[in-house]
Amino acid sequence: PADLLDADFYAFQHQLTPAEQGALRGIREFLETEVRPFADDHWERAESPRHLIPRIAELGLYANAFPETAQFENSSVFRGWVALEISRADPSTATFIGVHSGLAMTSIHVGGSEEQKAEWLPCLAAGELVAAFGLTEPGHGSDTAKGLETTAERRGDEWVLNGAKRWIGNGAFADLVVIWARDVADDQVKGFLVRTPSIGFTATKIERKQSLRAVENADIVLEDVVVPESDRLQRIDGFRDVAVVLRLTRADVAWQALGVAVGAYESALAYAKNRMQFGKPIASFQLVQEKLSTALSNITASIALCMRVSQMQDEGIQRDHHSAMSKAFVTARMRETVALCREICGGNGIQLGSESQIPGDVPPGYSIARYFADAEAVFTFEGTYDMNALIVGRAITGIPAFV
Ligand code: FAD
Repeated sequence: PADLLDADFYAFQHQLTPAEQGALRGIREFLETEVRPFADDHWERAESPRHLIPRIAELGLYANAFPETAQFENSSVFRGWVALEISRADPSTATFIGVHSGLAMTSIHVGGSEEQKAEWLPCLAAGELVAAFGLTEPGHGSDTAKGLETTAERRGDEWVLNGAKRWIGNGAFADLVVIWARDVADDQVKGFLVRTPSIGFTATKIERKQSLRAVENADIVLEDVVVPESDRLQRIDGFRDVAVVLRLTRADVAWQALGVAVGAYESALAYAKNRMQFGKPIASFQLVQEKLSTALSNITASIALCMRVSQMQDEGIQRDHHSAMSKAFVTARMRETVALCREICGGNGIQLGSESQIPGDVPPGYSIARYFADAEAVFTFEGTYDMNALIVGRAITGIPAFV
């Protein structure tokens, strides 16, 4: 079996195949050497680690979810563990991949024609181009299904897009943006592959973010952007197809949230064993042990939930409310966990890592502060906690509370 994470308390990873375990070990080594040590610096500079794009492609991490591009046969559970591992080292890098591969490539896989899949999936899997996913708007976040205002008007063999998008991950430098817009003729939401640069398309990086700082989000404006009919996602018929994409990706975000919690837990545990107060390591105090126990219990329950939701995806029985419950529950447990872990680290829990050799300073990549701040965006994107809870509430009662 793969070297288990200490945080995998119930040895869930034993359920992966030997090939999956081997791949996971290689990915972990890459993350520990090439990602984690530099994560704090990228976070502080608010810059995506773009030099990693080809390395991530070599490891197959954009490609794994799609039979057309996967390097080897793998399960949703395996891909969940990969998301956990990446986020455990750096939630911003996990989000970069989640947007490029999870949201954008899944949109093309779910909604594209065979020609569109053949044109885009291989080069996106190879990291030759970067993709983004433009759904949220300045005036519409939780209510995009009903409220989405960006328009698409057909003129012969072309469409003309007008509107604005907000918070678009990777949007500041993406080569391709999946734009969701409402057809003025039939009022249905359709998907468009907008290549950048395009006349009338502008993307402005959102500055001064305090969460997932190494993800470059953008405000996008579309002014009479012309898109050929051949770049409209041919198998998208309305918002219900966007919901299919979100059902798949929300389950991934739950795994990503687990990685944030595991990263924080591991940092706090190491810190608690080393930090001396009252002449003893703080790990020896009952109140600190209770916090660590709560953190590990949150992680363990969340792994069980994520594993089952991913299995249901492979069994073809995952419904919207299943992934909504995992996203809501796991992000809530993550938020509690990172707060407990930050508390354990005292004052050092609000600092990024540093290269200094000063005893007690936080080493690079082990900053609780980064996980603590990043947890807030993960709690909110791909449906806030509230909206995902209400999707579950609708399944329980049969009554939609948010339309
Ligand atoms: P709002 O919808 O305004 O919600 C504000 C509050 O009101 C929330 O607490 C919400 O739960 C609550 N609320 C709203 N309606 C109800 C209701 N009916 N009942 C109860 N409570 C309600 N979007 C993209 O399209 N592409 C991306 O790549 C992308 N990346 C992102 C990355 C980051 C770092 C962030 C922060 C956001 C990103 N988003 C992206 C946008 C994200 O999906 C939205 O922020 C999210 O859906 C919430 O929308 P909002 O921010 O407009 O909040």
